[in-house]
Amino acid sequence: MFIALDDTDGNDGGCTTHLMLRIISELGLDVKGYPRLVRLNPNIPFKTRGNAALCAEVGISRGRRRKIGEYMGKPVFSSSVIDDIPDYEHAAETAWRIVLQEARLNDEKTNPGLIISREKPDESFYLAALRSVLSVEDVFQRIKEMDIIYRYAKNGRGLIGAFSALSWAAEKSTYEMIMYNYPQPEETPKNVRREVAKLADKIHGTFNNYDDENRHAAIFPSPRTPVLCGVRTTDPLAILGFPDEVASNFQIGSTGYMLFQTNQATDDHYQQHFEQFEELSSYAFNAVISSHPVAIRGGHWFFNFLYKGKEYRAAIFEPSKGLRLLVKDLEIGDYVQIFGSFIDGKINIEKVRMIERSIVFVRINPTCRKCGSRMQNEGRERFRCPLCSNHSVLPEYKEIKRINRRNSYESPVAGRRHLVASIQDGATVS
Ligand code: ATP
Repeated sequence: MFIALDDTDGNDGGCTTHLMLRIISELGLDVKGYPRLVRLNPNIPFKTRGNAALCAEVGISRGRRRKIGEYMGKPVFSSSVIDDIPDYEHAAETAWRIVLQEARLNDEKTNPGLIISREKPDESFYLAALRSVLSVEDVFQRIKEMDIIYRYAKNGRGLIGAFSALSWAAEKSTYEMIMYNYPQPEETPKNVRREVAKLADKIHGTFNNYDDENRHAAIFPSPRTPVLCGVRTTDPLAILGFPDEVASNFQIGSTGYMLFQTNQATDDHYQQHFEQFEELSSYAFNAVISSHPVAIRGGHWFFNFLYKGKEYRAAIFEPSKGLRLLVKDLEIGDYVQIFGSFIDGKINIEKVRMIERSIVFVRINPTCRKCGSRMQNEGRERFRCPLCSNHSVLPEYKEIKRINRRNSYESPVAGRRHLVASIQDGATVS
């Protein structure tokens, strides 16, 4: 049985991942593999925070179980083989009751949706929800085609995320260990946060723990949710002991934890084959820089690029170190791979890979053909030799040595979007 869920939290609190943990625990079921935390279109205006939706395949395990979570002292187990349960209606009622208890229904943006299904649809809905904007009618259309139990409140928009999470095939994935202190953790002092992030950093496979540039422990989210911290990793088994290590090394309260499989840092949101840029979609494509970057107030930068013979504008908002270097290094003619989202008619840059630097020349005064000394500019495109008074209208060009050999430009950890893979980790699409 698959349980899929979305859109339960509000600006003042709540978290759909925590709700999924509570549902699994209260149903008393085991998880096949790991529950899934699926990020969808990062440009969606209705999102509360990171546009995450949840799905888990649950049942009763047969054979070896591994502890992957805990809720109020009660363990949650994972197994590779599970038996299905017969009573889907009962599971739906229990899950929906919990959703209604925890969901922030007073928040106008909160529109919960819950799906209970025996089957998984193909991946097309997930890809569409990641790369475009869908309507509630689109999801009802797909739900009708399947034998699915569903519940929703208010406008039911959460069903879009729930159905998308259900349809994620998880071909590329990373993991996140999330620790909770429900309803809201007390603020952890900055120095302790750094220590916990450094502890996470020592565990094999973890990434994005600590932002050196901003001296920021990135595993600690902004407040107002039950999430204490979230550690991202490519090695699920190595992170399983982390909650116990935190408990034994630091005085930090926790009401539970869960290891999720996610599409974070997979670059899945980028379309690479497309006809034209569509609003609120994200793209990865090769382009030629056609103007020097210029800044406006607030530290935002803009430049133009040519893609398939047409010129477009790119924006870098609040440039941070890696992307600021891009602004400094870019030259007209550079051939680059751009990763970004098309918003208000511009590509908002998320990262850039340099493919080939252009050769840049500057115009200089020519040397005199008669005596070999450097000529002087007489104005009106004419040059005159100060020694022998020879004249010329032909300037010379000199190649500028481009010293920077960087081939990737990206935001620091704190400014990186959930779905974006770091070029330097070598995980990006090419
Ligand atoms: P939560 O932790 O509650 O999931 P969030 O920041 O992840 O918070 P939501 O509160 O879930 O965001 O709000 C996102 C809403 O947008 C959900 O209702 C979801 O179904 C919907 N949604 C997600 N992707 C799309 C899409 N591509 N097109 C239309 N709606 C979408």
